[in-house]
Amino acid sequence: MANSMYFVQECPTCGRGLQIRVEYLGRQVVCQHCRGKLTACDPESHRYSGCDEAESLLRRAEELLRDSSRQMSASRRAAQP
Ligand SMILES: [Zn+2]
Repeated sequence: MANSMYFVQECPTCGRGLQIRVEYLGRQVVCQHCRGKLTACDPESHRYSGCDEAESLLRRAEELLRDSSRQMSASRRAAQP
C-alpha cells in the first residue's frame, strides 16, 4: 500500500510547485522554497472544503448579489407611482 501520496500545488507566494502530502490537505503548510504559508488544497478535486478561502469568497459574492437584487427591486418599487 502506497502511503506517501503527493500532489503538486503552486505556492501563492513564490509561484513554485510544491509537493504536498495528501494527508496535509486542508491544513496550513509552509512552502519549502520561500517559507510562505499556504493552505494545502488539491486543485483537481474541490471536494476538500479546506479551501475555505474560495468558499467564503463565493458566499460573499452570493450575499452581494442578494443585496443588490434587493436594492434593485426596492428602487424599482419606489420609482413607480
Ligand atoms: Zn513559496
